Amino acid sequence: MSLSVRILGASGGIGPNRRTTSILIDEDILIDAGIGVGDLTLSELQKIRHVFLTHSHLDHIGFLPMLADMVYSPDSPPIQIHALPATLKALREHVFNWVIWPDFTCLPTPAQPILEFRPIGSEEQVTIGSREVRALPALHTVPTVGYGVIHHDGMGFAFTGDTTSSEALWDALNALPYLDLLMIESGLPDEMDSLADLSKHYTPHRLSDDLDALRHDPRIAITHLKPGHEMAIRQQLQQSQYASRMVLLEGAERFELHAQNRTLKAG
Ligand SMILES: [Zn+2]
Ligand SMILES: [Zn+2]
Repeated sequence: MSLSVRILGASGGIGPNRRTTSILIDEDILIDAGIGVGDLTLSELQKIRHVFLTHSHLDHIGFLPMLADMVYSPDSPPIQIHALPATLKALREHVFNWVIWPDFTCLPTPAQPILEFRPIGSEEQVTIGSREVRALPALHTVPTVGYGVIHHDGMGFAFTGDTTSSEALWDALNALPYLDLLMIESGLPDEMDSLADLSKHYTPHRLSDDLDALRHDPRIAITHLKPGHEMAIRQQLQQSQYASRMVLLEGAERFELHAQNRTLKAG
């Protein structure tokens, strides 16, 4: 058994070969619905049964309306959209409001809609077959969670969402039973520290400091680099003592996690 993590988008902006955040877990679970969703074929889109949203920002939800419009099949149960209540409220009021897009939570019929909104608490979990998806508290400018995906056979993946330094997040990451791959942002370069503070994103220096708190020993997949600053962020991350474990995501990677690869730091 393995846990498949396919990165569809991992940029902090747009441009040639840059797509915003979206991750496909196995074939049926999508985390965030940024521009990367647009690369999936119709049959891949139709296999998605659960979408977990980290927060309401457009770079993470922008392609959810298009996804909903693509996947209708009279025999399929609704796609479950898991997110914080504040995120679901924002989607209802500002996106699926019949102005920006139709309300697919009551189409084609309220009894069997295309999307079903499922509120999740900031440390709640949902079991889907052999996998458990656990919300992780993050710290951003709007209510945000990350997600840990734990396979019962002993594999673990976590994505932090957009976040800055937060003790609760690192506590929650440490509480995961396994963590083979950690996808975390480093959105802005060190010299933009005050903007990172305002917009609540990580910089390479802050991230490197906080990684000291992690008791697991995962590969570290860096995401959400701001176009125009990618080179500076890359160079600053190379100074980190964790550089050898880092991979800077381009947005088209696939990771297959196997139980035997798991390592856990002592203590
Ligand atoms: Zn954001
Ligand atoms: Zn973002």
